[in-house]
Amino acid sequence: MFLQKHNFDVLLSIDGPENIHNKMRPFGVKKGSFDKVLAGIKTLQEYYGNNFATNTIVSKYFPYPNKLVKTLHEMGLNRVSLKTVSAPSNDLLDLDDISFDKLLEMEERNLLQLLKHKEWSINYLPLSQYMKMFAGGTRKRFRCGIGREMLAVSTSGKIYPCHRLLGNDALLLGDIHQGINEEKRNVYFTKDFSHFAECRKCWARTICGGPCLSDSYDYTGSLDKLIEKKCKRIKKLIELSIIFYAELIKTDKKRLLSYLTT
Ligand code: SF4
Repeated sequence: MFLQKHNFDVLLSIDGPENIHNKMRPFGVKKGSFDKVLAGIKTLQEYYGNNFATNTIVSKYFPYPNKLVKTLHEMGLNRVSLKTVSAPSNDLLDLDDISFDKLLEMEERNLLQLLKHKEWSINYLPLSQYMKMFAGGTRKRFRCGIGREMLAVSTSGKIYPCHRLLGNDALLLGDIHQGINEEKRNVYFTKDFSHFAECRKCWARTICGGPCLSDSYDYTGSLDKLIEKKCKRIKKLIELSIIFYAELIKTDKKRLLSYLTT
């Protein structure tokens, strides 16, 4: 298989059980995409085993991280990443502050249980990514490579700073024929955590790296504003990864190593 031969990392998007996934990711008006995703999972498992990650968007439709992780685990999907939806506050999918806080409570409870259950082989990606940083003593200045180390190309050849901003022509950087507008792209080199007043004061800044600019844009229409509830979750996940790391280094180095090497 081409992807495997050339060592591609694969990230599969699935948003939960069939009815929820189909609601979140329909083809056209009526047809859900769950069956296609299932077929894709089978193909990937055949070639990659379980060495591919899944990305799940948590929204108001199904704000239950424990049930989502259980569903994925039952499908044999163990490298999981849950992202909270990015949508303006009047959008049907948006998690309001109360639902968001409930979600954080459930997620924390779920993860602390996961820590106790040795037999659960789930790799909860944000946690293991943070633990890799602790083990390697690395720090971040930027949340991700948006616009700097990463670009997204649409099927029509347009170039955007990130796959999540595909189709957003206000942030278009160029196209494959004319090339990239470097002036527009340079903006992304200036938005490290030190650009944001809130981040400069935040204890988590060198692990977090600053806000997800795509989230900021989706929520606020600006690349310069933070979303407080998203910061709350990042900090909670970093705290939990510290708990995981401290506990596993004392009691289960083998399991810690498995998180650090997958
Ligand atoms: S958690 Fe929020 S305030 Fe803290 S560094 Fe990250 S984006 Fe900045």
